[in-house]
Amino acid sequence: MSVTITNSGAIVLDKVVCDGYFPGHKIRVITHIHSDHLWGIEKSIRDSDLLCATPATKDLLEVMRGSYPPQIITPNYKASFSYEEDTITLFPSEHILGAAQVLVETRKGDKYFYSGDFMYEKIQAIECDILVLDATYGHPSCIRPSFSRVKDELINLVQSELENENSIIIFGFYGKLQEVMSLLHEARIEVPFINPPKVYSVSKIHEKYNVPLGEFYSSLSKIGRKILKSQQYIGFYHPSFRPRIYENSTSIHLTGWQFNIPYKKVGPKEYVVSFSGHSDFNQLIKYVKESKPKLVITDNARPGSAPRLAEEIKARLGIEAKPEPAKNTLNQKVTSY
Ligand SMILES: [Zn+2]
Repeated sequence: MSVTITNSGAIVLDKVVCDGYFPGHKIRVITHIHSDHLWGIEKSIRDSDLLCATPATKDLLEVMRGSYPPQIITPNYKASFSYEEDTITLFPSEHILGAAQVLVETRKGDKYFYSGDFMYEKIQAIECDILVLDATYGHPSCIRPSFSRVKDELINLVQSELENENSIIIFGFYGKLQEVMSLLHEARIEVPFINPPKVYSVSKIHEKYNVPLGEFYSSLSKIGRKILKSQQYIGFYHPSFRPRIYENSTSIHLTGWQFNIPYKKVGPKEYVVSFSGHSDFNQLIKYVKESKPKLVITDNARPGSAPRLAEEIKARLGIEAKPEPAKNTLNQKVTSY
């Protein structure tokens, strides 16, 4: 089969492999830097002729690994290039900075497309013959309010916590944290932002690509340490990191798993906000309809609802669909929000 998803989570599109290691394939596309899309990266670096990512993903990869692969090439979005008999084009996915969708056109003219993690509200679908689809929120119960409503409610929540003289700690994944920094900055929230070292490095890459983030400091810098001790601030932390809980701080957790309402209060000073870079169920269905594929392969290697999404696509759209791999053997815990 020229298009498949392996047990190890590699997306195979003819001669090209995306987001996993597949023996014998000499070119790997890295769609973005979240950990469930970097599986097998060291083996790919060892065995591949070429790695391919957008310029921003290359820079973010350097932050994640300490260096970038020597054989990496960095095409811009929509700049096609050829490898052996395939033509490869990356498209913006609006998931996080640098994130890409991947189109592979074969010599025969077949179009294979990998959606990667994507936010349908902000992009248009690309027509293709076979679509490999993210299925994280592929269950019909996964419905979120519109992004603009979530954004407004998040800004209001932050403003009211600041008015109550609380500092705030926001937990989220790389790229999503910076998106929230940017929208709070745009909303003229003026307290300083604090980043632990890796988040700070990721924020600097966003600045390099002209994403305005406002005033932000490393938690380890002299000024950062002084702010943490003496004034109101908003801290931005990866969910795996548990900073000391500062007196008067409010915690806000960004997650795609909050449905139907923009946010929920889960403790005296703790909120869960429905903020995701993934499409929800309705958006996945609309996206498939617009892509007009002959076959959809739903991603059953990563966490989500791939078998159910395939059933829903067949029933609602009359388009052939199946999950791959047939069984999710990796049993990965949720890593992508
Ligand atoms: Zn992701």
